[in-house]
Amino acid sequence: MASVDTVRGKVDLDSLGTTLMHEHVFVLTPDVMQNYGDQWWDEQERVADAVTKLRQLKQAGVDTIVDPTVVGLGRYIPRIQRVNDEVDINVVAATGLYTFDEIPHFFHYRGPGTLLGGPEIMTELFVRDIREGIGDTGVKAALLKGVVEERGMTADQTRVQQSICDAHLETGAPITVHTNAAAQTGRLAVDFYARNGVDLTKVVVGHAGDSNDLDYLKWIMDQGALIGCDRFGLDMFNPTDQRVRTIVELCAQGYADRIVLSQDAACYMDFFSGEAAQEALARTAPNWHFLHVTTDVLPALREQGVSDEQITTMVVDNPRRYFAGKE
Ligand SMILES: [Zn+2]
Repeated sequence: MASVDTVRGKVDLDSLGTTLMHEHVFVLTPDVMQNYGDQWWDEQERVADAVTKLRQLKQAGVDTIVDPTVVGLGRYIPRIQRVNDEVDINVVAATGLYTFDEIPHFFHYRGPGTLLGGPEIMTELFVRDIREGIGDTGVKAALLKGVVEERGMTADQTRVQQSICDAHLETGAPITVHTNAAAQTGRLAVDFYARNGVDLTKVVVGHAGDSNDLDYLKWIMDQGALIGCDRFGLDMFNPTDQRVRTIVELCAQGYADRIVLSQDAACYMDFFSGEAAQEALARTAPNWHFLHVTTDVLPALREQGVSDEQITTMVVDNPRRYFAGKE
């Protein structure tokens, strides 16, 4: 039986069920938290809050979330395990590196052509996370996550993306990439992956759904990749009604098998740490939470003619196919 690695171990592909392909449990800045977290971070409270939010998500019918929190976003698997111990939901962990431009100095001096030389350390760490597990947690990453932002394929970004491609080719793990839809950087990512022999059916071009440019979105899908319509609730980038209209149109044109849905929400994100920032965030983006897709988006899609079958394709079949076939 084909399976996928999750925080709680291997899960049959068929039991992934309804899957949101881009949600974070936590997004944190560890060295800031270690020094200033006393002003806003309470471990017990945050873990309990995450448990509550994920239980609500499960009750709303979501069986699995894919959590692309990697180095650069504060990935810390023991905390996710603590949360997941209390909630019956699948959390798929990722490996990779989140940077818009430069890589941390930790990586800068290691690898081919650097001061310390040696093999590409990022590829080694990514493959280790996928094959052996993350740290001593026993949790294996099931996908690779990178970024191609407005600054594009800088020298450092190219190193990260090359490592992601190499780890993908070595392990078969699929890829998700944060892109900037306004700058259409999904094109750069897809081109780079194609040149490096990546199976494009194993690529989600994340945040593509911030755009309503059908030519751009169809170009990505015509290359074989999936588009992440994965920031529902972030109306400042693209309001929900327009995101919905774009998906309705793409489904009508036969693209349901290349679309995945999500919110890019988090139980807690320290970009908005502290009470005042949390309140401001809730005022600015009231729909940016885990329940927006199930409560508002799916009904809106149905109302506008997207069939139940197409919805199942987007939230069940596409995720299952994306994770199928890794060793
Ligand atoms: Zn994200």
